[in-house]
Amino acid sequence: MTLNLNCPVCSYQDITGDTCPNCDTDVRVIRMLQELPPAPTPSAKPFNIVLLILILIGLGLAVAIFWRLSLPQPNTVVVADPTPTQTTKIAPVAVIPPKPPEPKTYKVQRGDNLSAIAQKFCGQQATWQIMLKDNPQLQGRENYIDVGEVLKIPHCQEGM
Ligand SMILES: [Zn+2]
Repeated sequence: MTLNLNCPVCSYQDITGDTCPNCDTDVRVIRMLQELPPAPTPSAKPFNIVLLILILIGLGLAVAIFWRLSLPQPNTVVVADPTPTQTTKIAPVAVIPPKPPEPKTYKVQRGDNLSAIAQKFCGQQATWQIMLKDNPQLQGRENYIDVGEVLKIPHCQEGM
């Protein structure tokens, strides 16, 4: 099957051969394209398929949104019940305990003594006995702490 072509260069009409008789333009490629008219129709079908997919995605999203919107409703009904909300409000407050202070350390400086260290961290009323509670290794040598020795900082509330 051969089609009569029009030359794209000089518009010579009804070319039956592979080249334009007027300007020698090779029209074989044009003929090949002309003989592929079924091609445009499949290209239209994918477009419809894409449209279909988009519509399906849109429907899916709509269903998902509707599903999400419909889910909170039973939740609000549950929240409306006053007793569980009250217990949940009380529970977190009761669960969180006051964190005990992190055990910090202090390196003994030249001229330090346990009373001075206790007062440094716990105020003027503090006594050296506070230091023994957190540093039992000092028992019996309260007056002979070494410079550079690392002691635990006393827990002031317990000592006072
Ligand atoms: Zn031509």
